[in-house]
Amino acid sequence: MPDPSTRSASTGSASNSSSLADFLPVDTASPDETVALGRRLAAALQPGDVVALYGDLGAGKTHLVKGLCAGLGVPPAHVTSPTFTLVNEYDGDLPVFHFDAYRIERPEEFFQLGYEDYFFGDGVSLVEWPERVEALVPPEAIRLRLTHGGGDVRRIEMTDER
Ligand code: ADP
Ligand code: MG
Repeated sequence: MPDPSTRSASTGSASNSSSLADFLPVDTASPDETVALGRRLAAALQPGDVVALYGDLGAGKTHLVKGLCAGLGVPPAHVTSPTFTLVNEYDGDLPVFHFDAYRIERPEEFFQLGYEDYFFGDGVSLVEWPERVEALVPPEAIRLRLTHGGGDVRRIEMTDER
């Protein structure tokens, strides 16, 4: 007789990182390919997800965010880099919060922004420069790293790096 305890849990709280891992790593060869990849990855996101996007200036984080947003029902033209505002809010199929922590010098600034309402609400949070606020990024966040290849090549992969 099958042991019920060995049945796999196919619904509910299972981490969706594994489905993102099905797509990655990927090398894109143009900005448009990075946007298209983001659009595909968005299908694996769920309300409450926090996506941390690591990578240097020009690695393609904002392009990937444009694609993720498009996949979540936000027109890419609405997506702009929140370098000075710290967070942009978009109305997609669900709320999308787009952070750029580049200018944050102390995690306290992120705390004062009320980041918990964003991270632990029902929207999706997309965070550029998560290194700046690493202590506040939840352990269950989906961590993606973007790296420059030669020319217009960018590698997008999952990472555990903290
Ligand atoms: P970040 O947010 O990481 O600083 P952006 O997405 O704002 O990066 O900018 C990426 C830059 O690199 C843009 O100028 C874009 O045109 C260029 N680029 C070249 N190849 C790619 C690629 N494969 N994917 C994304 N951006 C690319
Ligand atoms: Mg950016």
